[in-house]
Amino acid sequence: MLLSVENLSVAIGPVEPLSGLSLALDRGEILGLVGESGSGKSLTALAVTGLLPLIGGRVSSGSVSFDGVDLCRLPEADLRGYRGRRIAFVTQNPMTALDPIQRIGDQVDVVARLHLGLGKAAARARTVDLLASLRIPEAAAICDAFPHQLSGGMKQRIVIAMALAGDPDLIIADEPTTALDVTVQAQIIHLLGQLARDRGLGLLLITHDMGVVAQVCDKVAVLYAGRLAETREVGQLFAAPAHPYTRALIGCIPREGMAPGSLSGIPGAVPSVATYPGGCRFHPRCPRAAEPCRAAPPPFAARPGGGMLACHFPLEPADA
Ligand code: SF4
Repeated sequence: MLLSVENLSVAIGPVEPLSGLSLALDRGEILGLVGESGSGKSLTALAVTGLLPLIGGRVSSGSVSFDGVDLCRLPEADLRGYRGRRIAFVTQNPMTALDPIQRIGDQVDVVARLHLGLGKAAARARTVDLLASLRIPEAAAICDAFPHQLSGGMKQRIVIAMALAGDPDLIIADEPTTALDVTVQAQIIHLLGQLARDRGLGLLLITHDMGVVAQVCDKVAVLYAGRLAETREVGQLFAAPAHPYTRALIGCIPREGMAPGSLSGIPGAVPSVATYPGGCRFHPRCPRAAEPCRAAPPPFAARPGGGMLACHFPLEPADA
């Protein structure tokens, strides 16, 4: 297994915003990590890349095994050998990810020079190839451009090129299209998914958009208020969600031919870490909540038919 997260909990000061997270991702697979804002998705990305200290956080228990090495036990100096080289990150906002006063080519070249030890000419040739593979026209000429001369979609392709330039095994893409307009979003997501498959990379795609997940992912992990609700193979999950929160998220996807005003939302909001309710954290918003849900959190356990689930009263396929 390329990435195996086992029972991971994260603490920031006295609070625990992420509890008991377990994920598995192999080469050539695309895993979607979904949930509303505040569910702990970006925190998961920081934990996997060892960047929690940047926000005053730490792994309080569990492990993050990457290619057989527990990254949580590595000193910072060793972790640097993984970041950029073997684990690459695509950030939310390409407008701030790029240096505004450096030419595009130089920003991509430096990744291959630093992580692969390539000389100037070889790094530039690699950059031009990468930009072309990302369907950037006139790739050689674009290398001389500055970020402000490119559109938002083009800038995000450059950020993806930077992620690929170190020849990584795993890409973590955290809401990679949030800052882009909707038509460009679809192009970028499909391109990223295609590149990951063609190159046999693992891709952890963090998103709040179930529509994106349905289009490109192989499997899905649904996160709510710092705990996993459900993990399944993508086709099974959309055909018959077992967790009420998963079903609610799927209900938020706009569909062709929908009557105006018929799109359902999820009442209420994800609680902040300081106000996580006892029992199942989804119970204040769940239409199936009953006394056992308020009394004790449901265990996250294997379910018949595949996947893992945390719910006292799961949906049957006929309910979905
Ligand atoms: Fe709803 Fe209860 Fe399941 Fe939580 S455990 S999702 S409250 S039915």
